Amino acid sequence: MTTANAYPVTQTIRTIGILGGGQLGMMLAEAAMPLGYQCVFLEDSADCPASLYGRVFHSEQLEAFIEAADVFTLEFENTPTATVEQLTALSKSGSKQGMFPPLIALDIAQDRLKEKQMFNSLDIATVPFMAVNSEAELKQACDELGLPIVLKTSRGGYDGKGQFVIKQDSYIKAAWQELKDAVTGKGSLTPTPAPLIAEGFINFSREVSMIAARTQNGQVRCYDLVENHHHHGILAKTQAPAVGTSHLLKQATDAITTVMNHLDYVGVMALELFVTKDERGNDALLANEIAPRVHNSGHWSIEGAITSQFENHIRAVVNLPLGDTDNVHPAIMLNILGQYPDISAVLNIDGAHYHSYHKEERDDRKIAHITLMPNDVADLEPALAKLVATLPNKMGLEKKPSPIDSQPKVEDSLTKTDSNNTVESKVLAIEDGPSDKAINAKSKTEKAKK
Ligand code: AMP
Repeated sequence: MTTANAYPVTQTIRTIGILGGGQLGMMLAEAAMPLGYQCVFLEDSADCPASLYGRVFHSEQLEAFIEAADVFTLEFENTPTATVEQLTALSKSGSKQGMFPPLIALDIAQDRLKEKQMFNSLDIATVPFMAVNSEAELKQACDELGLPIVLKTSRGGYDGKGQFVIKQDSYIKAAWQELKDAVTGKGSLTPTPAPLIAEGFINFSREVSMIAARTQNGQVRCYDLVENHHHHGILAKTQAPAVGTSHLLKQATDAITTVMNHLDYVGVMALELFVTKDERGNDALLANEIAPRVHNSGHWSIEGAITSQFENHIRAVVNLPLGDTDNVHPAIMLNILGQYPDISAVLNIDGAHYHSYHKEERDDRKIAHITLMPNDVADLEPALAKLVATLPNKMGLEKKPSPIDSQPKVEDSLTKTDSNNTVESKVLAIEDGPSDKAINAKSKTEKAKK
């Protein structure tokens, strides 16, 4: 077979090099194939999900990986910036076709403080926050922001790890002791020294996210707002579109478009937001963070949108026009953690689409997702109940989530109206000084895949 005319679309790009080889890389490669592109991956785990779709290069084989690809992207934002810098320099010199998204997006997304400063500089509302470099500054932040506050490492945390809710002054010392190493870069807390960030604790009603794609010539297309529910800090369920959020769509679309244009971004980005109330009691959005990559809350788009987030990311990276981002049908996506369900029981439910990541079962590991899209929308909730019944790990979905379900538990420091908020804590509270369960900091070096 000759390959002379095998790539009718973009002659100069045949192979996409992806930094990381997890399930996001796998689904990017699935989307790239029908467009005529191959993918290769830079990933230390040889049997990673993406290995089914293309060659995997160990980080020690960086030069061979670079040689094998024409254009580069990533599926994991904690990618070392040095590699991204090298790929950017090669692209600028003309020997490669580009590194997308740009380094600056990665630099900002890796740092919660820079991220919130960027939002505010672009007039995008966030929770009130302050940088914290010492115990004295932490005390000052508690005074100025008012308790409770959430204290977070600005770098290195993910899925709610490395975070504490400080409910009363007596917790300040313990919280500082737990996280102070992040400021100096000692220990395993974060890869680089960086101030902590203290944030006002927000009583949000819902967590939503918006996904959008931007091309090299600035075309932007946004997906619908979706609603996310977490369990123990990990995404359990995404509902697309988020019901009753049409009045928030413009604010979210404007925010993500502004951020993308500001960063001269190329590819897919996710923006995570809290729905809260403004002073007049109207719904308002606060930006929490960006993910400079395809995102777990966009997996529904494989079946649920005209063009999936994965295909649009590939299109942007190889410089093709974006596809329509409209929903074809309301959908619910569930993550499968730790243990695979009985696939025939799942597929017995009309409208269930199963995506295995070909990973070994391990506690709390994302190993698959299922998108539910029954033909009749009225069947969505009953189908969801049936689906949840098939899952070995129900991710807290057997109970009906209340609007404040994913909010941290701080009942003894909040007012009466908040005390119903007894759901799983994503940000773990320091109860009586640093408890075992509060300390996820030690696992910081574990490679996170959202
Ligand atoms: P993050 O790592 O910043 O995304 O935070 C993890 C989760 O903790 C979020 O998805 C929220 O559920 C919760 N959270 C984070 N920051 C705050 C805050 N300032 N107030 C209330 N809840 C928060």
